[in-house]
Amino acid sequence: MGLGAARKTMVVTGAAGFLGSHLVDRLLDLGHEVIGLDNLVTGTLENLATAGKNPRFHFEMHDVRQPLRVHPQVVFNFACPASPVHYQYDPFFTLTTSVMAAQHLVELARSTRAVIVQASTSEVYGDPAVHPQTEDYWGHVNPIGERSCYDEGKRCAETFFFDAKRRWGIDARIIRIFNTYGPRMALDDGRVVSNFVVQALRGESLTLYGDGNQTRSFCYASDLIDGIVSMLNPASIDGPVNLGNPTEFTIRQLAERVVAELGGELTFKPLPADDPKQRKPDISRARALLNFDPKVSLEEGLRGVIADFRPRVAATAAR
Ligand code: UDP
Repeated sequence: MGLGAARKTMVVTGAAGFLGSHLVDRLLDLGHEVIGLDNLVTGTLENLATAGKNPRFHFEMHDVRQPLRVHPQVVFNFACPASPVHYQYDPFFTLTTSVMAAQHLVELARSTRAVIVQASTSEVYGDPAVHPQTEDYWGHVNPIGERSCYDEGKRCAETFFFDAKRRWGIDARIIRIFNTYGPRMALDDGRVVSNFVVQALRGESLTLYGDGNQTRSFCYASDLIDGIVSMLNPASIDGPVNLGNPTEFTIRQLAERVVAELGGELTFKPLPADDPKQRKPDISRARALLNFDPKVSLEEGLRGVIADFRPRVAATAAR
């Protein structure tokens, strides 16, 4: 029986964020007791509106740079600004959030034997020289660039957990999350799917950075959450696991999909520094280990985002 099967007390850090809140909802659906921690720097309590009605959910304001005061059986660490706009706003905060949380979670795992599921990222591969990216690729990351506070913070967190696994035998399970989109993304998140949908709904031009030929692979939130919760099924997991949708699109193709749904025009802006030219996960490991199989097509997923964003964008216009 997997770790996720019996009812447990689980902590989600970053619970009020886009992915954290979807994870909270799923864990509650599975019957667990869930403690959500967040400092509300990028997350909002609106994302926890459904969870808040459930007596098995408890929320605490908490900054993961401080030690955790809870004693759960499982911690999902999703606390960190994740969009380039948000994580570059205060790079010192971003870097220390990843690194200090890892330190505190290692201490917690040593003293309580809690299982840690760490949200790492495809950014650990940087601007990759290997395509698609497999977990054994070490990456091509600028240590002193504008993205480094996020990339190196997440890499350092992985180092913390792997040293602690080797030295103290803690049970830390690392997922490397590739580009994910879905309902509840912040309208000002700055990432490409939310930007394009918000721009199209407002009748503004869609901003393509560079020539739009760079690629990404977009995973719908519900598919990703399937993979995250299944990380508790195997008795143990050693190396990191890529989670994402392996269907690759150019950013221009994404823009054209959004225009096909909502209309709009394209405008070109300079490519940000160190912007990866291509990204696509090799998910063989997740398929074999977790039966992970993302199902939602970009077309279907975009419709889900549009349905969620339309009233929220209209509400901002009415203010
Ligand atoms: N991008 C774009 N227009 C936007 C926002 C992003 O063309 O309004 C591009 C960005 O340069 C990158 C890709 O879309 O090549 C994905 O960017 P995002 O910020 O969503 O995530 P990343 O994968 O870079 O972390």
